[in-house]
Amino acid sequence: MRLSRYFLPILRETPKEAEIVSHRLMLRAGLIRQEAAGIYAWLPLGQRVLMKVCQIVREEQDRSGAIELLMPTIQPAELWRESGRYDDYGKEMLRVEDRHERAMLYGPTNEEMITEIFRAAVKSYKQLPLNLYHIQWKFRDEVRPRFGVYRAREFLMKDAYSFDLDAEAARHSYNKMFVAYLRTFARLGLKSIPMVAESGPIGGKLSHEFIILAETGESEVFCHRDYLDFEVPGEGVDFDDVPGLARTVAKWTSLYAATSEKHDAAAYGALPRDKQVSARGIEVGHIFDFGTKYSEPMKATVTGPDGSVQPVHMGSYGIGPSRLVAAVIEASHDAAGIKWPEAVAPFRVGLLNLKQGDAATDAACEALYRDLSAAGIDVLYHDQDERPGAKFATMDLIGLPWQLIVGPKGLAEGKVELKRRADGARELVAPAAAVARLKG
Ligand code: ATP
Ligand code: MG
Repeated sequence: MRLSRYFLPILRETPKEAEIVSHRLMLRAGLIRQEAAGIYAWLPLGQRVLMKVCQIVREEQDRSGAIELLMPTIQPAELWRESGRYDDYGKEMLRVEDRHERAMLYGPTNEEMITEIFRAAVKSYKQLPLNLYHIQWKFRDEVRPRFGVYRAREFLMKDAYSFDLDAEAARHSYNKMFVAYLRTFARLGLKSIPMVAESGPIGGKLSHEFIILAETGESEVFCHRDYLDFEVPGEGVDFDDVPGLARTVAKWTSLYAATSEKHDAAAYGALPRDKQVSARGIEVGHIFDFGTKYSEPMKATVTGPDGSVQPVHMGSYGIGPSRLVAAVIEASHDAAGIKWPEAVAPFRVGLLNLKQGDAATDAACEALYRDLSAAGIDVLYHDQDERPGAKFATMDLIGLPWQLIVGPKGLAEGKVELKRRADGARELVAPAAAVARLKG
C-alpha cells in the first residue's frame, strides 16, 4: 500500500479526552474515531488490526472444535421474555421498537438466540457435544463508557455457546474453551491469567475471567507470581483428550488468582511474600458454565441414551476482540508510539523514502516495494513529500514491526537500513538482503 493512496488520518496533537495510553495512541495513529460516546468507527489501519485479532480468535476456536455461524445484532424481545432476562437486564440493554410496534433489542449477548437455534434442530444426545460461536457487534449501554474501545458501548465480541448432555461433558467443553483462550491470548503476545470470577447477569456457578496485567486495567487482581511463567499448551494440544485437558486446567487453576470481587485476603496472605502479585488487570475473556439456566425455561431438551428427555447443559464463552486491540497496545508501546506484535500488525513493514523526488532513491524504493509485495509481505510505503523526521515519527507512532529506511547516503554505499520497532535495533544491509531477511 502506498501511503499517498491510503487513508491514514494521523493526529499530531494528543487528544485531551483520552485518559489512557492505548486510547491516545489509537486516536493519534488513525486507528479509530469516536462517533458518539462509546461508539467508534474503525479506520482502515484499525480495521486491519481488528481483523487480524479476529482471525487468531477464530483459528483457535476452530482448532478446539467450535463451529462458526453468524447471528443478527437485532433480536426480538420475546426470546428474552422466555428466559426471564428481558426485564432483569435493565438499562444496559438498548431497546427499540420496529414499525409494527414490536419490541426489539440490540443484542448485548446471545444466550437466548443460540438456545432457540439449538432447540429447533437438535433433539438427540447423538448430536452432542456442540459448540457454536460467532464474532458479532454487541451493544451495552454502559454507565461509564471510557478508555476508547476498551469500555465501549458498541463493541465486538466473540461469543461461543456449548451444549452437552450432562454436567460432566459440559465440564470438558468448558476445559476446551479454557485451553483455547490460553492459546489465543498467547498468540496475541499477551500473558493471560485465568481468575476465579463472579458470573454476573449471565448466571451460573463455574466461571473464569482471563486477565492481562496492566497498570491501566479496570480490575483489581491478586495472583500467584508463578502463573507468569506457566507454559501455554502448544499447537498440537489434543482437544479430545479429556483427562489431558482436565490436567492442564487443573494446573492453571491450582494457584491463587482472583479479581477483587472474589478475593480471599487470608488465602492470598498465606502465599510467600515474593510470590504475591497485587496488580491491575484488563479482562479480555470470560467463560461460564451455567448448566440448565437457559435450557430449562426455554425448553432446549434432548433425548438421552436411556430415552429420557432432559434439558441440555450449556456454557458461554466471550472474548472482546475490540478491547483486545487496546490491551495489546497497553502491553506494547513506548513514548513514540505503538509496537505491534507481528501477529496483529496492520502491515509488516514500513518503507521510508527519505528523499522523495530523488531519482535514485525513488527507484530503489519502487524496486523494494515491488519485491516485498511480490513476496507476499504487507508493506506500507511512505511515499509522500515529507521531511525524514516527520516520516520517522509517523512510522514509530503507527508501530509496524519493521522499518526499511532508504536514503541517498546509504544507497551511495549500496545499503538500506532495517530497523526493528520492538527494540529499535538497526542494521545496514544491501536491499536484496533486506528483502531476504523480511521474507525469512
Ligand atoms: P466487564 O466486567 O469488563 O464489563 P463483562 O463481564 O460484562 O465485562 P462479558 O459479558 O463476559 O463481559 O463479555 C465477554 C467479553 O467481552 C469481555 O471479557 C470483554 O473482553 C468484552 N467486553 C465486555 N464489555 C465490553 C465493553 N463495554 N467494551 C469492550 N469490550 C467489552
Ligand atoms: Mg460488563
